[in-house]
Amino acid sequence: MSRKLQAMQKRLRNHQVNLQNEILMIRTKKKIAVSGQLEERLVFFLFILLIMGGCSSSSPSDNDILVSKDTRYLPDYDNGDTIYINVKIAIDERGWNSKTPDYFKTELTKQWQQINARFNNSDRKKLLKRTYVFQPDVNDIIVYSGCSYWGENGANEKVIKQMDTTFFKLGVIYDFFYEGAEAGEYGGGCGDDRGIGTILVINGSEDFKNKYNDHFGVYTYRAITHELGHFRGVTDLYIDVIEAANNPLSQEKFMPDHCLMNDFCYTPDEESYWSDYAVKIINKVGNQKKAGLINDLMYEDFADRMLITATKNGDPIDAQVKLYPAEYDHTKWSSVIKETPLFVYSLTNGQFQVNDLRKLFFRSDNHWDRYHVFLSEATVGNEKRYLWIADYMMHESGMDEKKTYELNFNF
Ligand SMILES: [Zn+2]
Repeated sequence: MSRKLQAMQKRLRNHQVNLQNEILMIRTKKKIAVSGQLEERLVFFLFILLIMGGCSSSSPSDNDILVSKDTRYLPDYDNGDTIYINVKIAIDERGWNSKTPDYFKTELTKQWQQINARFNNSDRKKLLKRTYVFQPDVNDIIVYSGCSYWGENGANEKVIKQMDTTFFKLGVIYDFFYEGAEAGEYGGGCGDDRGIGTILVINGSEDFKNKYNDHFGVYTYRAITHELGHFRGVTDLYIDVIEAANNPLSQEKFMPDHCLMNDFCYTPDEESYWSDYAVKIINKVGNQKKAGLINDLMYEDFADRMLITATKNGDPIDAQVKLYPAEYDHTKWSSVIKETPLFVYSLTNGQFQVNDLRKLFFRSDNHWDRYHVFLSEATVGNEKRYLWIADYMMHESGMDEKKTYELNFNF
């Protein structure tokens, strides 16, 4: 392992975002593609870096009026019907020199129309409180030179330095000319982006090295829409998927809600939608931009307690309940249910209350560091029942004002 790689991995571990997860998704996609299940190879790598911990002090609140020296732009706003967000666009120098400025202006304008349409139209039940307009600044594109990775002297730092950050809270960075050495390790991460969200679009693959890569195909606009879900506070739901083969206890698959943040990341618009869970978060976040948004929101709104009950023919019955955590297995590129329970409870009079549910899921003060899924198993005599519990379910319960999550096993 190279020193550079080690340093990169260390940085990644330290970052308070689930950036690694994002990389894993793309790798998994690629693997699926290789096995022939997809018609086209999904070869681009999209990373988002969101609003890092410790940067909130410098980010203005929702209601602050942004004063920009630049009068060309309408500042971001939320008027109750529409949320308008300016997007700073940046392009790597070699990519920029591969085409004309007019080409990028035209294609980016079209692509962001696709993104806005997908973002809004994926609200199938019309639950979004506002219409979203992400406005790309195609008239003043930042062109940066050198490497496109995240972190020290990375694309995010270079681009943010050139952004008017009193005004732009989101930078979308396109690397159209992948040079290989620049990323190498799919580089990502950052220390402190002062509450500014950045999305890095890059083909980090050997096949696409040293040539111009098109980022105006169908997968890129879909992936960027997924990333905007993060920008509006929603976590990755695909992280919670457990394949049946990775569940040695009940051999059942766990699939979170269908969503652009789950299995609909790359699907055509007409087949895709936001989950109710995602819409609740997007509505709640509104026009906020601040550090640690995704994970802190989940922590704050998490259900406080969990009441575990067991019943037989409607009557309470005593049972033993074990919670088996899912943990990421790097050899399988997916999460696996461990065969050793992390928590064991004895139900008395058919119930047991977990009084601090956050403690069960969150492993440290860094709220991204948590268990995503447990397989819960109840045993009465020789009979067993299984139920899934996942972080986002506890979050949704809390958002719905059900501060006690109820888990009932029926025998
Ligand atoms: Zn994601």
